[in-house]
Amino acid sequence: MESKQPMAENTARKGPRPSLIQSKPPRKRDPRLLAVIDQHGCTGCEACIVFCPVDCIEIVPNVPHAQFQQVVEVDIERCIGCALCSKYCPWETIPMFSYEEGIKQAPSLTMKSVCNQKTKEDTAPNPRF
Ligand code: SF4
Ligand code: SF4
Repeated sequence: MESKQPMAENTARKGPRPSLIQSKPPRKRDPRLLAVIDQHGCTGCEACIVFCPVDCIEIVPNVPHAQFQQVVEVDIERCIGCALCSKYCPWETIPMFSYEEGIKQAPSLTMKSVCNQKTKEDTAPNPRF
């Protein structure tokens, strides 16, 4: 009999899915791999968006960095881990992780999020405590 693996908890979630992506429901089962865009190296060229077969790469609006065309992020609740975005990103800024590791890494690599993931600021220790 096949043993069931416990689902890893997505600790990057901060709240309910925002209205922008509510019509794009999460996948049915966890993938083996996850893509996480390292926004430190992203130029916003949008090439990855074209290659994603499940339309799970979102443009983050209102990012106040003049040097970026856009900032994009992977909705890690919809990514199926196919690695196409990682393969075709011209700036090699989409690492692929195991599912568990991707969940852990997403908050530090995703500086700005429209998919309501925790950002680096959210996860930093509060200096007042
Ligand atoms: S292809 Fe790479 S550099 Fe271009 S938007 Fe996607 S992650 Fe950013
Ligand atoms: S790994 Fe595949 S499904 Fe995930 S964001 Fe990249 S292209 Fe989309």
